Amino acid sequence: MPKFFIKTYGCQMNERDSEQVAHSLIARGYERVVHETEADVVLLNTCSVRDMADQKALGKMGMLGRMAKERAHVVFGFLGCMAQARGASLVKNLPHVNLVVGTQKFHRVADYVEELVAKKKRISENVQRPTDDRMDDLRFSIVDIAEEPGSQSTIRDHHLAPRQVTAFVSIMQGCNMHCTFCIVPQTRGAERSRSIDEIVSEVRDLVANEVKEVTLLGQIVNLYGRHEFPKEAGKSPFVQLLEAVNEIDGLERLRFTSPHPIGFRDDLVDAISRLPKLTEHVHLPLQSGSNKILKAMHRAYTAEKYLDLVRHIRSARDGIAITTDIIVGFPGETEDDYKQTRDLVEEIQFDNAFVFRYSPRSHTPAAAMPDQIDEHIKEERNQDLLQVVNESTRRSGEHLVGRTVEVLCEGPSKTNPARLMGRTRTNKIVVFEGDNDLIGKVVNVKVQHANGFSLYGAPLLKETTTF
Ligand code: SF4
Repeated sequence: MPKFFIKTYGCQMNERDSEQVAHSLIARGYERVVHETEADVVLLNTCSVRDMADQKALGKMGMLGRMAKERAHVVFGFLGCMAQARGASLVKNLPHVNLVVGTQKFHRVADYVEELVAKKKRISENVQRPTDDRMDDLRFSIVDIAEEPGSQSTIRDHHLAPRQVTAFVSIMQGCNMHCTFCIVPQTRGAERSRSIDEIVSEVRDLVANEVKEVTLLGQIVNLYGRHEFPKEAGKSPFVQLLEAVNEIDGLERLRFTSPHPIGFRDDLVDAISRLPKLTEHVHLPLQSGSNKILKAMHRAYTAEKYLDLVRHIRSARDGIAITTDIIVGFPGETEDDYKQTRDLVEEIQFDNAFVFRYSPRSHTPAAAMPDQIDEHIKEERNQDLLQVVNESTRRSGEHLVGRTVEVLCEGPSKTNPARLMGRTRTNKIVVFEGDNDLIGKVVNVKVQHANGFSLYGAPLLKETTTF
């Protein structure tokens, strides 16, 4: 059977979409390989959130053009957000590309791949190394970037690695918020949610396969179901979902990402305080500490409201970690606006933050705004804010030195496979010595030192809990 290679750019939702595509190809007998040079099908699942992600995927596919000449039977495809945004122009500019599939059509990829593999095989059978003329015969493609009702329910299958203990579960697609810098509403479409029953059933299956922790995924996850399902007893559909998943026997931990501050109401803060499987970590995108910039971003909250929300969440659960996303250099951001962001970040002391330089995306309102900021100013603010963030991250790690933390052991450490790694309930990475029998178990680890984003420690084996 043919072999396929899939590379993912971007966020956890893209990772999850790639996993669904991989599952559908493996179910048809295809074999997954880790090097594109061994593959008969090469798929790039793309991201469009920042220009750099676009350029990386385009550059990678451009380099694969040489391989297309040497291995005429190979199918090349773009999937995901950039495929959705650029459509057929990708085939025009990179003629070896045969497949372009948008964000609502991942479940069609296996059919399209099969069709293309068969067609290419027929044409290239007698061609060892096609001349440029002969290459024309191989220049055919399938482009499908149409909307498809119900596509949110098609990301539901998993291809779990041996001893995999954590998994992502896609609960909704799309976003209606239209933040002025963001291309997601164009690439992912309007908000559409799966039913609670479907999601619970998927999590049950994962738990039956030894998964201990799930992360519920959505572009605007805490507004899950607002168009489809009613509130009940004052609880939003998202809180109803959290309660239902929290009840699943054998599930140890429950996470979600990414919420929007405006969807973080009292019922959700209350759920954080009372649902034991919800972990002590909230990723809460701030974007800016300047009310003027937040308004221009169309973010619909103020810096003061964000700060109140942080205090409210912190008072709901002891030791809860809060992380965030921040954009510097948004159009019109003055030194004073930037200083307001910096001051707020200092005041909140996030456990971690992803700081991005604003990157104009075509067809978004912010790209056409006046007062675009020079790249060197963006870079200065980026570096300056990173220092503030790194300092608070360092402090939050050092605060744990000498303490015992509960770690779900995920497997060997990527940087040193002789050691194990896992995460605390607050989502901090912990590296420790231990036997592979600990994989999949919750281990109490005494933290010995902290280094940037990671903690290092020793397991207290007597207190290890098996689930
Ligand atoms: S909430 Fe804003 S930033 Fe997040 S996906 Fe929607 S439009 Fe983009």
